[in-house]
Amino acid sequence: MRQDPLEEIRPQYDVVVIGGGLGGMTAANTLARAGHSVLLAEQHSKLGGLATWFRRGDGHIIDVALHGFPVGMIKSCRRYWNAEIADSIVQLKDIRFDNPMFSLSTTFDRQDFTRLLVERFGIAPKVVGEFFEAARKMNFYDDQAVTTGQLFDRFFPGREDVVRLLMEPITYANGSTLEDPAQTYGIVFSNFMSKGVYSFQGGTDRLIGLMDRELRKNGVDVRTRCPAETVHLARRRVEGVTVRGQRIRARAVVSNANLLGTILNLVGPDHWDAGFLERARAVRLNNSSTQVYMALKPDALIDESQCGDLLFSSTAPAFRTELLLSRQITSRTYSFYYPKTRPGLNRCVIVASTNAHYRDWADLSREDYLAGKRDLIENTLQAVEKYVPDLRRRIDLVEAATPLTFERYTKHLMGASFGTKFEGLAVSRALPEQIAGLYHAGSVGIIMSGWLGAVNYGVIIANEVDAFLTKEVTGQRSEVRDSIGDPDL
Ligand SMILES: Cc1cc2nc3c(=O)[nH]c(=O)nc-3n(C[C@H](O)[C@H](O)[C@H](O)COP(=O)(O)OP(=O)(O)OC[C@H]3O[C@@H](n4cnc5c(N)ncnc54)[C@H](O)[C@@H]3O)c2cc1C
Repeated sequence: MRQDPLEEIRPQYDVVVIGGGLGGMTAANTLARAGHSVLLAEQHSKLGGLATWFRRGDGHIIDVALHGFPVGMIKSCRRYWNAEIADSIVQLKDIRFDNPMFSLSTTFDRQDFTRLLVERFGIAPKVVGEFFEAARKMNFYDDQAVTTGQLFDRFFPGREDVVRLLMEPITYANGSTLEDPAQTYGIVFSNFMSKGVYSFQGGTDRLIGLMDRELRKNGVDVRTRCPAETVHLARRRVEGVTVRGQRIRARAVVSNANLLGTILNLVGPDHWDAGFLERARAVRLNNSSTQVYMALKPDALIDESQCGDLLFSSTAPAFRTELLLSRQITSRTYSFYYPKTRPGLNRCVIVASTNAHYRDWADLSREDYLAGKRDLIENTLQAVEKYVPDLRRRIDLVEAATPLTFERYTKHLMGASFGTKFEGLAVSRALPEQIAGLYHAGSVGIIMSGWLGAVNYGVIIANEVDAFLTKEVTGQRSEVRDSIGDPDL
């Protein structure tokens, strides 16, 4: 690691990418492969953003956001990263639900969900087929007036159990609710249903290590411990960025930082049209999360057939978004990491996640905050003992993260785990119309969040930046654009 994070930094780059989350890294990699000089400035000491991990004690490695993503990640990683990354993506075959309405195990794909909906929930096969088709056909341009709740009412009126099966995992996957536009559900649900839930063999540390290596191989100047402080403009076009007090010129800037943080803090409120600023200020951040990390003693293994890979558990009698966010926790998602996650390391880790409101944690006194974390840990240990009976005897380490933890490490306003609500997408897309050369590639609009959404959004924005830079120099359309290609969404 460099002593001075800015050592030998160049005075100018074609593009400065602010933030090394999955969207920022993918944009940087794609732009470098297209021949542009790229600086990637990440404020934290490691890359990854929310896609991160940490080490503790005697060899425990804990993944924070590696719970599952759709199969599309294989194709996107093959096209925009490399074969080694794509070939390490593996399916999680045992997804479980346990709540007062039903307990079941599934491979979480269309075929198995069709079987469950027909045989277990008694829905007519024709209705199930029509529902899947309606969800699959959804795209960004659909009527936003239809909510996910209305979509379910159309196909499964009065069936709270069916809604729970279909919705609970997606609420965990991207924070969407029954009140959000139906396409935020349909697109993400269909992505999962196409072939199930996938994970990365070797863990997040290996994935981000491989991405770091690929970025450097393609010529990206990767700098960690480098917070961007200001984006500089001259007559409504990007001129450069100040990083750690040093001004660096750039023809284009891609911000992977939180959308509202980019608009209001990095650029500042004085540089936008009044109408745009009003629209930006109205964008709602998505919710945050809490997590409890439980690392088991070396060789204290959990039997895979006992718990499965991913378990959506709830003690709430019915599915309600507000219950999923409440500090009186009734619903938790457990990820079970077995030795297969990191072959050669004979360890098991359990991560329990809940969605959470930032204010429920941010408004506490220091004392109450620490007490809240202790309660969170204790209540989680009690809850998980239903599935791993002698856990306390086998556990080596337990820690908790709150919305403040996510805010602290990623600088996401209010610790938002999944960027913004749907309206954030249009605001993110409109940045270059306001300021030439300024782009945003980070979790927004529910759809462009999660590992796959962030990677794909990074590619889409890289294509636009490439077109902008090429047109500026040659006055012509970019030739590399066609070779980059847009991702399948
Ligand atoms: C608890 C949890 C569990 C999750 N589980 C899953 C899951 O199982 N599957 C899934 O698909 N998704 C999951 N997600 C969501 C997923 O991890 C994120 O949507 C995705 O990683 C976000 O990528 P991003 O590109 O938007 O950038 P982010 O990860 O948000 O990264 C932004 C980066 O910008 C940096 N930054 C911010 N400000 C500055 C600045 N001024 N200067 C320099 N750098 C800056 C930050 O440090 C950070 O590295 C989970 C999220 C959370 C919180």
